[in-house]
Amino acid sequence: MKYSKLFGKTIKESPKDETSINAKLLIKAGFIRKEVAGVYNFLPLGLRVLNKISNIIREEMNNSGGQELLLVSLQRKESWKKTGRWNSFDALFKVKSRYDFEYALGPTHEEVLVPLVNNFVNSYRDLPLKLYQIQNKFRDEPRAKAGLLRGREFLMKDLYSFHESEEDLMKYYELMKKVYKKTFSKLGLSAIETLADGGTFSKFSHEFQVVCENGEDEIIYCPGGDFSQNTEIAKVKEGKECDLGHGPLKKVKTIEVGNIFPLKDKFSKALGLTFKDKNGKEKYAVMGCYGIGISRVMGAIVEVHNDEKGIIWPKTVAPFDCHLLVLGNAKDKANNIYQKLIDGGIGVLYDDRKDISAGQKFADADLIGIPIRLVVSEKTPDEKIEWKERNEHKVEVIAFSEAVKRVKRESLV
Ligand code: ATP
Ligand code: MG
Repeated sequence: MKYSKLFGKTIKESPKDETSINAKLLIKAGFIRKEVAGVYNFLPLGLRVLNKISNIIREEMNNSGGQELLLVSLQRKESWKKTGRWNSFDALFKVKSRYDFEYALGPTHEEVLVPLVNNFVNSYRDLPLKLYQIQNKFRDEPRAKAGLLRGREFLMKDLYSFHESEEDLMKYYELMKKVYKKTFSKLGLSAIETLADGGTFSKFSHEFQVVCENGEDEIIYCPGGDFSQNTEIAKVKEGKECDLGHGPLKKVKTIEVGNIFPLKDKFSKALGLTFKDKNGKEKYAVMGCYGIGISRVMGAIVEVHNDEKGIIWPKTVAPFDCHLLVLGNAKDKANNIYQKLIDGGIGVLYDDRKDISAGQKFADADLIGIPIRLVVSEKTPDEKIEWKERNEHKVEVIAFSEAVKRVKRESLV
């Protein structure tokens, strides 16, 4: 992609109406633009990141037996009445039709999926079943000041599992804990599994929390990794010795990037989802649900991976594998290299702009945060290129063919 043609460029001024690091950097670097508080448009660079995150999650969900579908945002009021959440889900947007009825604007999808599944599940032979989607959710959040961390419209992956028994549910629930850990680590986030309240969903839940001083949540955890609770429910105090001898428990600010709930029969009871067991007896299906805030993950990545110059994307989610800069009169050399990188299947953002100083191009590259920077100038010898990684200071001049190999190796193209 030629930067001269890219829709959405860097801007010099920090947006005045944003206080969070993620919103400031993502807007300055040309990834997102605010529509109204808590609602953001994703520009081409931003969408590339969002899609990379989605695809990593999609692959993990498919590998865990999930089948992808896409559910509606405009949802029947009657189902929300049946579960009692028409009144108890505080952040529910209610949409009035000009005809005589109302919809819920989907903040979560139990009320849609359970009746839908009821059409197809009759017997224990139809279970277990795992369905997921990647879709925008709508929540009328009281505070929406943290950029992508708390949106009123935001992208979520939500998976729902349906089982014959609580035992089967809990087996899958434990598996999903492991899948979540692995997924977040692929996304460049170290997420701490944390016991938490279940809200309007269940008695308890497990959250996946990323340590970050700008986070809204707070956990008490053992740095040894065997204990973590949200302070909303924790009865222990910071400083208490860990039972397994790992030292004192720590209290830290965090961002909740994922949340899983053992729903059990709460929604199948309310919405009448039953099946015939092996003995022909009618039973309620046992459910779990598993969310990841995809757009919040993008914000969280920026919150933890940045420096004073800009964003530092993990390789797995970067909008492009490398950022090629041409300086001075080296257009032919750079064009040639650009073509070869593309032919090699490498994702390249090519800063081909004329009349932009070297300093400005370097600053923009640091702000945008693509992990590998390649520079071609009059000074670089033929067939050679300047190589620098975003999170290192070292600059190397290496053969172009070597650069192609290295980008491929590092980006797993
Ligand atoms: P929070 O406690 O932060 O309000 P929640 O517990 O209500 O979140 P869940 O219903 O568990 O959220 O949703 C699953 C995931 O969706 C969360 O773990 C989070 O990553 C993401 N998420 C929830 N609300 C928002 C929001 N307003 N903006 C962006 N992401 C969100
Ligand atoms: Mg939650």
